[in-house]
Amino acid sequence: HEAEELQRQKMEALGQLAGGIAHEINNLLQPVITLSNLNIGAPDLPAPVREDFADILSAGRQCRDVVGAVLAFARKEGAATQPLVLGDAVCRALSFARGVLPPAVVIDSRIGDCEAIAMISTTELTQVLMNLLTNAADAMDRSGTVTVTLDRLPGAGGLRLTIGDEGCGMDERVRQRLFEPFFTTKPQGKGTGLGLAVVHGIVRGWRGTISVTSALGRGTSFEITFPVAESSTIEHPATESPPA
Ligand code: ADP
Repeated sequence: HEAEELQRQKMEALGQLAGGIAHEINNLLQPVITLSNLNIGAPDLPAPVREDFADILSAGRQCRDVVGAVLAFARKEGAATQPLVLGDAVCRALSFARGVLPPAVVIDSRIGDCEAIAMISTTELTQVLMNLLTNAADAMDRSGTVTVTLDRLPGAGGLRLTIGDEGCGMDERVRQRLFEPFFTTKPQGKGTGLGLAVVHGIVRGWRGTISVTSALGRGTSFEITFPVAESSTIEHPATESPPA
């Protein structure tokens, strides 16, 4: 628990610093993107100048994507959550992911008929799954099977979502650092090191947990647990009145 608290403080400090910078950069990027886009369309522009503007626009957009990820990580309070049947929400997020992942990556989904309800946000769930699935695709060199399982935890009855790949796996050094913002082993321009930091922040916001097991050369499995929402808050959301 002490290590967890230390990690939390570290993330918060990094989030504040990075979020402040990202906000400033975001404002400065606006004219770069808008003006280069405007100039590309100008008639009578010499071709080499037009190409220069295209390069500026493309770099500006990439920069905006990175900044967007930093802002998502730095954001304090998460998106608005609502009670959702988790199995349905996961299925919807997976069908979206299938359209975006490399075609040779197969998602084997085993969503037990899980009627349980969790307090989450659809957008955040999609973001979490997309980050984990694209990492899995990268680890498998963009071809292989990712197994996604949803079931109930034994005992108190929380929910467990696992995303397992048959990729390169990771060593202990990487395993210990992978949730840190800006930690990446991918080549420059490929990874920002923000994906799992964002995932970590979102899952914490749901009051869930995330953990990872990995074997070098064999694969990696992420496990996310969700508390089940109390049924009373679902069945009578509007009629519930505070105790007299
Ligand atoms: P990025 O993908 O931009 O590098 P992430 O925060 O998503 O940033 O991941 C951090 C690092 O964790 C990756 O660079 C990679 O080394 C490692 N990693 C994440 N997911 C996996 C996976 N499924 N298999 C192996 N390594 C992984």
